[in-house]
Amino acid sequence: MKKLIIHGPAFTALDADHVQALADCLVAIDDHGWIERVLTPGDQDFERVRQAAKKAGQLRELAKGEYLLPGFIDLHVHAPQWPQAGLALDRPLEEWLNHYTFPLEAKFSDRDFAARVYQDFVHTLLAHGTTTAMMFGTIHVSANLELAAQCRRQGLRGFVGQVAMDNPEETPEYYRDASPAAALRASEDFIQRVQETAGADDLVTPVITPRFVPSCTAETLAGLGKLAAKYDLPIQSHVSESNWESQYAIDHFGMHDAVTLDHFGLLTHRAVMAHGTQLTHEDMGLLKERQTALAHCPISNAYFGNGVLPVHYLLAAGNRLGLGSDISGGYTPSLYHNIRQAVKSSRMLEDGVDSKRPASERGVAASRITVTNAFYLATVGGARALNIKSGQIKAGYRADLQVVSAHSSFTPLSTQDVFERLLYQTEAADIRGVYVNGHLVYEN
Ligand SMILES: [Zn+2]
Repeated sequence: MKKLIIHGPAFTALDADHVQALADCLVAIDDHGWIERVLTPGDQDFERVRQAAKKAGQLRELAKGEYLLPGFIDLHVHAPQWPQAGLALDRPLEEWLNHYTFPLEAKFSDRDFAARVYQDFVHTLLAHGTTTAMMFGTIHVSANLELAAQCRRQGLRGFVGQVAMDNPEETPEYYRDASPAAALRASEDFIQRVQETAGADDLVTPVITPRFVPSCTAETLAGLGKLAAKYDLPIQSHVSESNWESQYAIDHFGMHDAVTLDHFGLLTHRAVMAHGTQLTHEDMGLLKERQTALAHCPISNAYFGNGVLPVHYLLAAGNRLGLGSDISGGYTPSLYHNIRQAVKSSRMLEDGVDSKRPASERGVAASRITVTNAFYLATVGGARALNIKSGQIKAGYRADLQVVSAHSSFTPLSTQDVFERLLYQTEAADIRGVYVNGHLVYEN
């Protein structure tokens, strides 16, 4: 691969509260897809590097109104639920699973169906500026291998999970692992086959994926914890997503959901747990201690979460946290839309929603987050959760990037204004190009 230099203005999060605005920069990408240097006009060789790249045909000059941002990291998304995105969101979680989701996921026993859906799904994520996704597949090894193949073919950095679900009380007969042994065998088979087919600098990582505590037997949860340790792999699941799920662990294991996952070795520094709207402060402390990340899915939570995740509290407490679309509990693959919802939900948490109560008693003080906080979650927070060098425009990081076009303005805007408007107004049509590992994987 040739070296690439991208020239233009850029925004990148430094931490949860600060964004670095680079009014004019050169992002130099080496031939392995890493950002080698970020030069600004103050650098002596800025013009020389730009001219040399231009002469060599290695320069991308951003057009007027275009900005470079890090690619987004979707920490929680169900790839097989893409065909039902935007459907049946008025049903309660348990009913939604049994009447819509499980019948759809069962169809992925057909590899051709899986290939058609996953081809479109991976393309759609890239087209929305997502460069890395942590994904649930289904219980079918062949379909999950198809998802892994699509990530490699189209250039999405994919964390792909073979879903384990074998509890006969909470899963239908037509869509269930036949036994704990079958669930564990399928997980190990998937891991080995992804690893066998991996190329150099591979984009795909297999993920240990107990669907959630209610859908797994204790034997399977324990076995998956051991598999994660044996292969040193990431883990993904759901934690305290709703009142029903939260209560299930208490009723069946006599422990909170988070404590149950920890009991089976599933809360590690490589684990990402979705939602967490019903976590207690003690549960949050346990996640922090284990360095387990939370995937905040604000759109999905508005339908199924029975509450708002206290993002401000978690960031201040030092918990690891990123953002997820949770297709199809969430209806859109766009992390831009989830950034907006994260901000809106936090404002409603702070102010409260029942105006019949006195203003002082309505909400939870100091809950609001800023759009900068949410941008951090979609980039740096997600990368840290996955322990990958991505999500920042900085030397030593992967060149996982998106080029977006700002809407025109009738009045002069400050740099902060431009940044906020980009996050509030960018739609897929405004995304001009997406790079993963320095490769142009999407162009519009
Ligand atoms: Zn989910």
